Amino acid sequence: MPDTSDSKGQDRPRSLQIDLQTRFGRVKGNLSVPPGSVRLAELAWNSMAIDERLIAMATASEARQGRQVSCKQGCGACCRQAVPLSPAEAWMIADVVASLPEARKAETLARFTAAKERLGSEGFGERSLHGASEAEITRLGLDYFKLGIACPFLVDESCSIHPNRPSACREFLVTSPAENCSDPAGKPIQGVPTAGSLTDALSKLSAMVMGGEPQAIPMTLALEWAAANLEAGSVRYDAAMLLAGLVQFLGPGPAATQAQSETSPATPPVS
Ligand code: SF4
Repeated sequence: MPDTSDSKGQDRPRSLQIDLQTRFGRVKGNLSVPPGSVRLAELAWNSMAIDERLIAMATASEARQGRQVSCKQGCGACCRQAVPLSPAEAWMIADVVASLPEARKAETLARFTAAKERLGSEGFGERSLHGASEAEITRLGLDYFKLGIACPFLVDESCSIHPNRPSACREFLVTSPAENCSDPAGKPIQGVPTAGSLTDALSKLSAMVMGGEPQAIPMTLALEWAAANLEAGSVRYDAAMLLAGLVQFLGPGPAATQAQSETSPATPPVS
């Protein structure tokens, strides 16, 4: 249930003990729980540490099989894909842009506008994923990539919001030659199978608390979507409830979660 009071929650659990079964093994530890209530955007930001843990497990598994991640700084090929965001992350990205220094914010907003205009001029406004087959979704993704529209945060082929990038960007890693990513229709790309998609889990969680179906919002339309859903994005929910729900959506197997004592000391996001 939405909790719209910011002053409640002083006596709520401060950490959440998780025991999450993944394809690469179990993740056990404590998640710090922000005091009181949070917006979904804040929940998204707080959950990135879980994603980093899951990604580390996936890349370690690849390394054990002799495959090293080939992604490198200065390669922005994947930043021309239609990066999907959960609603929680679309609001998180809007927060990131709002916090930028004025000059940088103006440049970033201009890039968002240019990307949207280009998509409109290419007829993407009339193409919908609603009810689309997997083949149609793949075709749309390839057509989008062919346009070469860079993510508005890509500067000199590097991510200008790297610490704040969304989960889809963190989870897209390859072990095939980095240059293959420039031609996904023609060259083989070997992705790193992840232990769980935080984008999917956040989308399901957003749908659970807001109602409706899970959504994926393209990065280039994130600000427009966040502005159109400003009121929903300002609703605050109990932080422990959100985190427990998120862990359940992340786990492909049985996941046990348990809220610890309210007197538990503050812990790192994932210890
Ligand atoms: S947020 Fe950063 S990593 Fe993600 S697509 Fe944009 S520039 Fe690339």
